Amino acid sequence: MSTTPDTPLDASTWWEAFVSENSAYAPRHAAGPDPSQGAMLYLEDITVSFDGFRALNELTLYIEPGELRCIIGPNGAGKSTMMDVITGKTRPDKGVAFFGHQLDLLKLSEPEIAQSGIGRKFQKPTVFEQLPVFVNLELACRGPRGVWRTLGARLSSEERDRIDSTLNLIGLSAQRLQRAGALSHGQKQWLEIGMLLMQEPRLLLIDEPVAGMTHEETERTAELLVSLAGERSVVVVEHDMEFVRSIARKVTVLHEGSVLAEGDMDRIQSDPRVIEVYLGA
Ligand code: ADP
Ligand code: MG
Repeated sequence: MSTTPDTPLDASTWWEAFVSENSAYAPRHAAGPDPSQGAMLYLEDITVSFDGFRALNELTLYIEPGELRCIIGPNGAGKSTMMDVITGKTRPDKGVAFFGHQLDLLKLSEPEIAQSGIGRKFQKPTVFEQLPVFVNLELACRGPRGVWRTLGARLSSEERDRIDSTLNLIGLSAQRLQRAGALSHGQKQWLEIGMLLMQEPRLLLIDEPVAGMTHEETERTAELLVSLAGERSVVVVEHDMEFVRSIARKVTVLHEGSVLAEGDMDRIQSDPRVIEVYLGA
């Protein structure tokens, strides 16, 4: 330290003063994300234990703005638990989770996180089966509290335009008046992605989007997800390796709650550790 204090300092006070003057010694995570990194999502050293078992073990992961990231890994690797932490459903024992630079996800409730711009799509599609496709998007546009008001109220032209462009994006313009329950499994998945988009998320988390889809639906889903990235960050958990290869720029392999490998698909598929735990099976 540059100055000698008048009164003796105890060790922890001295350390704090030392660190504040010598930032290189600062604990890596003390002040949240490093602004020079510019990531959209920061997870650092996230640990989640269930009865002593570590579902996530010091997981560190960064997602860039506009990135499309695929997360793969064997069953039980911690993929869903990671999404639970990001969305506030599960609280980690330790670690740091920031959305952008300001939002400390570990201090926000689940609804607050959703409102802050993180949308999550679960594996099973959850659309309003009895209602037309268009009305599903209309409800999503106004949020859960507006259901009765929505059904009676007129749409603004801005809302109508947003719904039309979303229908176009998810490839369901021709089905706009059809009951959602009459859609194919793949179409329901697209509709649910559309419903999430109506909330204008900055980060979309999507769990196994192509499970149960036909080959053609899988290809269209790949195109859709690629087109969604850019304007927002998209994180996709998926087992279908052909699908991952078709959309992935950067792939993260989780294993036993930590990142085992990260990189482009060629690098991942030739990594001996990845082959051993996952691809070799
Ligand atoms: P993945 O999605 O990669 O298949 P999960 O995140 O679902 O893996 O699970 C990681 C590990 O944590 C698994 O061993 C699972 O059994 C365990 N686990 C997940 N949720 C709970 C829970 N609520 N209670 C106890 N164990 C859990
Ligand atoms: Mg899972």
